Amino acid sequence: MFEIPTSTKQHDESRQGEALLLEKDPQKSNGRKLYIESYGCQMNFSDSEIVASILLDKGFETTRDYKEADVVFINTCSIRENAEQRVRNRLKEFESAKAKNPGMVVGVLGCMAERLKSKFLEEERLVDVVVGPDAYRDLPNLIEKVDEGSRAVNVLLSREETYADISPVRLNTNGVTAFISIMRGCDNMCSFCVVPFTRGRERSRDSQSIVKEARDLFDAGYREVTLLGQNVDSYNHENTNFANLLEMVALVNPLLRVRFSTSHPKDITDEVLYTMVKYDNICKYIHLPVQSGNSRILKLMNRTYDREWYKERVDAIRRIIPDCGISTDVITGFCSETEEEYQDTLSMMDYVKYDFAYMFAYSERPGTLAAKRYADDVPEEVKKQRLTEVVDRQRQHSLERLTTYVGKVHNVLIEGTSKRSDKDYCGRNDQNTMVVFPVDERYKKGDYVRVYAETCTSATLIGRIIG
Ligand code: SF4
Repeated sequence: MFEIPTSTKQHDESRQGEALLLEKDPQKSNGRKLYIESYGCQMNFSDSEIVASILLDKGFETTRDYKEADVVFINTCSIRENAEQRVRNRLKEFESAKAKNPGMVVGVLGCMAERLKSKFLEEERLVDVVVGPDAYRDLPNLIEKVDEGSRAVNVLLSREETYADISPVRLNTNGVTAFISIMRGCDNMCSFCVVPFTRGRERSRDSQSIVKEARDLFDAGYREVTLLGQNVDSYNHENTNFANLLEMVALVNPLLRVRFSTSHPKDITDEVLYTMVKYDNICKYIHLPVQSGNSRILKLMNRTYDREWYKERVDAIRRIIPDCGISTDVITGFCSETEEEYQDTLSMMDYVKYDFAYMFAYSERPGTLAAKRYADDVPEEVKKQRLTEVVDRQRQHSLERLTTYVGKVHNVLIEGTSKRSDKDYCGRNDQNTMVVFPVDERYKKGDYVRVYAETCTSATLIGRIIG
């Protein structure tokens, strides 16, 4: 969904393509090299690990250099126009590599593939294969078709596919935190969103396979899993609801931290909140996208809750889990949004004081309900102006929230050394705030440490280990 925080964000289209690298298995090698690059949400990144697993099984090895690849895949995002443009620009860069190696197979996977279908083949002569998110098992077969001289498309959506039996290969991870997809698709029809059209109907994955994946990750040294779905609160598999699943995963091991994303305000239950309280290893953090603080706009967005409902859910979180971090997504300038209605979004931000937020000016996506029904009539400069104010307001709130964490001790899982200095470790606290502190040789990546927060910026706590 349009709604996930940095490390767990599914629709963070600002993420640049990242290439995956697999270990070579000489027993199975078919001598062909795969290069796969992912854009957009965490779901796409997780899907690339499934794609890699399917092809590894067929003897492919991977490369980080597309110029030496035999198969180049780009796993795409359709959530915003600029995300699609970025993919098209990237495809242009592959042209010279393909000219040197005409046998190279170029494939487009993911949401953009699903949205454009065979039109992609007409628009981009370079592309040989177009594959939607539910058709990855068909990839070896589609590659074969291209080898035989055809171009191939499979964008069939499924009501059953969850890839439950495929163990994703964990790539480019820090070896400490991992994502587990618990469901696919979405049955909500938020009017601004393409996901219901590109990822199909909602399906929940078998709970036992999820618990097994969490256990395997723990045994492999991982210490944090994030349960991933467009709308995790509507998880339901054979009478196991999301609260039950959360408990099952928390019970894998007290040293395995559990996070989840994304929650939908209409579906998050008190049962989930009480389950979070019951287990120390379930992190006290919820990403609860509001999108707008105004009830009329929420109705147009088809979010199926109103301002009062949302505030009541926030009140419930604060009452049941007083120390819970809350983050959100905000859209400014949705169709017909007036100045007064936009002010309701600001006042909602003031009410909740989010730890952080993903904020966007509305941009119409073809095929969505909003594109069909409503005029995109808020002038661009007004949308941008509102966005600037929202971003400023959030920066103040983030700083306020993080200031309340200063002078306190936080339980932090060490994820590695900080990007800025290898003299510092970094990791996140329960509330999902990044914490930076000097390296202490007694502790290593994957250890839990207690960190006293001495100061902060609007995004990071800075402290020292106290044991
Ligand atoms: S339709 Fe709504 S709930 Fe579903 S993925 Fe899109 S924004 Fe999220």
